[in-house]
Amino acid sequence: MLLVFGLSAFFRTVGEGVFHCQACGGDRGYRRRIGRRWFTLFFLPVIPLDRLGEIVECHTCRARFRPAVLRLPTADQLTAALSAGMRAAVALVLRAGVEGDEAARRRAVEAVRGYGEEYYDDEALEGDLGMPAAFLAEEIVPAGAHLAVEAKEWFLARAVRVGLADGPLTERERQTLRDVAGHLGMTHAHALGVIAMTEGAAR
Ligand SMILES: [Zn+2]
Repeated sequence: MLLVFGLSAFFRTVGEGVFHCQACGGDRGYRRRIGRRWFTLFFLPVIPLDRLGEIVECHTCRARFRPAVLRLPTADQLTAALSAGMRAAVALVLRAGVEGDEAARRRAVEAVRGYGEEYYDDEALEGDLGMPAAFLAEEIVPAGAHLAVEAKEWFLARAVRVGLADGPLTERERQTLRDVAGHLGMTHAHALGVIAMTEGAAR
C-alpha cells in the first residue's frame, strides 16, 4: 500500500472586521486567522505540529499581514480624525478673532470641507464654536498624530488663513495658532515659521 503523507498549513478564522489594506490600497474586509502546521496522511490532517501564529487576510486581494496591521487607522478613521481636528482648530481661531466675520467663517467652512467633511456648513460651525476650549484642543491631538511634518504645516497654514480672513493676526489669534501647532506636535520655532510664511504669502 502506498502511503501519501506530507505537511500542510491549516487556518481557522477567529475574527473579522474592516482594515486598511496596504496591498490593494483601501478600506477592506479582513479575516483574522490562526494557523497550524499539520502532518497529513492521504491529505487529511492527523497530527498537529507547530503553531504558525496569527495572520490578517484581506477579503479583496487575499494578501496576508501580521495582526499589527490592525493598529493602523482605516482611511475612514483617518479622514474623521483629520476633519475633527480641523473643525476644532478653526473654531479656536475664529473665537480668538472676530467670530462673526463672514469671510473668516466662509474660509473656516472651506478648510473643514478640504479635509473630507463635504457637508460641513455654517450651522455646524456655530455648534463647534460653542464647544469648550479643552475639548477642542483634545480633538486636534489625534489629527497631529496621523500627520507627517509637511502635512502638519499644511494643516496649520489652513488655520492661519482663517485667522487672516478678518485682517492681520491679533496677538490673541497668534497665541491660539501657536497652541494649535502645539497640539499638532509641532515645535514652537516650527510653528512661528509656518505662521510667518502664511502671513507673507497672504500679503
Ligand atoms: Zn487587499
